[in-house]
Amino acid sequence: MDNLMEKIVSLCKRRGFIYPGSEIYGGLRGTWDYGPLGNELKFNLKQEWWKTMVREREDVVGVSASILMNSKVWEASGHTQNFVDPLVECKICHQRFRIDEKEQIKNHEELHEKKKEKAEWTEPKKFNILVETKLGVVEGEKNITYLRGEITQGVHVNFKNILNSSRLKIPFGVAQIGKAFRNEITPGNFTYRSIEFEQMELQYYVRPDEKESMKQYDFWKKTRMEWYKNLGIKKDKLRFREHAKDELAHYACAAWDIEYETPFGWKECEGIHHRGDWDLSRHEQYSGQDMSYFDEETKEKFIPWVIETSGGVDRAALFFLIDAYHEEAGRVVLKLHPKLAPYKAAVFPLLKNKPELVKKAWKIYQELKKSFEIAWDDRGNIGKRYFSQDEIGTPFCITIDFDTLEKDDVTVRDRDTMKQKRIKISELKDYLEEKINA
Ligand code: ATP
Repeated sequence: MDNLMEKIVSLCKRRGFIYPGSEIYGGLRGTWDYGPLGNELKFNLKQEWWKTMVREREDVVGVSASILMNSKVWEASGHTQNFVDPLVECKICHQRFRIDEKEQIKNHEELHEKKKEKAEWTEPKKFNILVETKLGVVEGEKNITYLRGEITQGVHVNFKNILNSSRLKIPFGVAQIGKAFRNEITPGNFTYRSIEFEQMELQYYVRPDEKESMKQYDFWKKTRMEWYKNLGIKKDKLRFREHAKDELAHYACAAWDIEYETPFGWKECEGIHHRGDWDLSRHEQYSGQDMSYFDEETKEKFIPWVIETSGGVDRAALFFLIDAYHEEAGRVVLKLHPKLAPYKAAVFPLLKNKPELVKKAWKIYQELKKSFEIAWDDRGNIGKRYFSQDEIGTPFCITIDFDTLEKDDVTVRDRDTMKQKRIKISELKDYLEEKINA
């Protein structure tokens, strides 16, 4: 489809999914604001993630840690050290290398050459990806710290707190959703690479055992891929990609990405990382606190290893939008999974100027609103209202007409098939529930 990204960016702004950040002041590069519909989409996405990753499992709990952390956290995690050297960034895939890593740079160029691409580099810069901020009120006495560069560390620094305040036994996981900030050199491709973004992560603690940890690793890899597929992303647009040894992050022993084929190429949506004992042992070293786990049954004491699933909420939202966008039979339709769609249904009185229809429709609207996010539309003709709801992905449109007044049933029109069905008002809630959860 021509100009797919332009169409999506324009639809997002026009219908209230995503606006450029601080737009009336000329914007702020790499920042985006979610409008009423985008906010619902993101909310639904996070809710689905939380439901499957935390609520439906007995071995995972959730936390919500501070964005601001003691700056020593970032020394321990390796972020300050790994990002203060002069770096060049590959303009194609945004991988960064210290300029003294000549060998790695050469290998990287060869990697692109194999794909018939020519790697171009940004000018070397002394570069810290962490977004610095100052705390304190007295000028000259302010403490420098950072807005967190990943949400991961908020979990690991609380490892002992979580253990001591719960009855969790290894293996177990700690999940978190929250904002992270990175001074990206090259933000772009709409929300794909932003300065401020949201992550959804699981840190899963396992015994320090090669076989056991790889079993868990494979389980989470598979589970995360299934999650995207179950929410309706086209299967042939998703793939796994293993990180080559020279692209592994400083903490990772193994890493696979889940990638989605966007109009701007195959791009990372989520990373599944084997972090080994990197985080806990570094925090033990830097804080001087014991970060080990004691196994009551075997009487062993050890630093657990960590399997991480780290996804971006904004990237996932963008990829779901791209995947859902269709143009067919003279209409634009967002075929979002009903669980993700901002509105589950829209309610229309057939005619705006017939008070008995409007009254009945309004009653149905108010009743359904107790259970679902529902839109109301009484403008123009029914065709225009369908068109408008298709474009924002509303899976069902409910019309209240003169028959409704006599028979207590309504017309329910399906977004994807455009087929219509009469449903009893008393059965409407169950009907929608069943369809949404199918
Ligand atoms: P990339 O290689 O694209 O910069 P990364 O490998 O640095 O990503 P991770 O550190 O593994 O990313 O972060 C986990 C997830 O957080 C990514 O898979 C992505 O979904 C999201 N994410 C990371 N950086 C950004 C960003 N600048 N904007 C939006 N989402 C991001």
